[in-house]
Amino acid sequence: MSNTNNKAKIKEIFSSIQGEGLYIGTKQLFIRFCACNLNCDYCDTPFLPDNINERNTFFEFTPDELIEYINKKFDINSINYISLTGGEPLIWNEFLAEFLPKVRTKFYLETNATITENLDKILPYIDVIAADIKLPSCSGIQNSFELHNQFFKAIKDSKIDCAITRQYDCNGKKVFAKIIFDHRITDKEIESCIYIAKMYDLELILQPRMIDNELSIPNQTIINVFDKFSKRYKNIRLIPQVHKFLDIE
Ligand code: SF4
Repeated sequence: MSNTNNKAKIKEIFSSIQGEGLYIGTKQLFIRFCACNLNCDYCDTPFLPDNINERNTFFEFTPDELIEYINKKFDINSINYISLTGGEPLIWNEFLAEFLPKVRTKFYLETNATITENLDKILPYIDVIAADIKLPSCSGIQNSFELHNQFFKAIKDSKIDCAITRQYDCNGKKVFAKIIFDHRITDKEIESCIYIAKMYDLELILQPRMIDNELSIPNQTIINVFDKFSKRYKNIRLIPQVHKFLDIE
């Protein structure tokens, strides 16, 4: 029985091509949830509902209403994954716990990897977790490593067989961590990222920060940072955001 009070605020729903991370280039249906528990310095994601500015709207759905909307507007069979993005989708964990089991498709969770509440109810339905590791130097989030450690530990310790240490669990779940960096990245931050990556055997994606669709740092600095990581940790790739080059959403 659906709970009609269990509603989520959703900023937008659209079909596009994944522009970052390991699944770059795949066709996805993006559900962008409103609200975020962080406030990163570089955030340019339009996730905020703003009732004051009438041009900036949002939808409010129960899980059943969202399913009906998606089925009516999109051809789910033509997409690779439904991407749960934001903002921070895990803020809406009660909503997700009811919505996810009702939809038979592959789910891709884009998360800032800081919320652990109710993860057990959500993880069984997620196929890919694209988690962030926030660098204080670039994001301005100061206690990020502690929060990320708790997040990855919660996945590792969860009741489902999500063997993050093997990258794939029996259901083919994949977890990787994305690091947005610029010239301010410190050796201590690199140290902390590698510590977490080794602890949970994470594949790391280094993503240079972009400003107005341009790389924010020179190519040589990017390569130098990549070299510092790759000398100490092999399971790493350097992948810039492609959707900004293509100028797609
Ligand atoms: S976690 Fe993502 S959506 Fe939230 S403030 Fe940071 S960049 Fe923006």
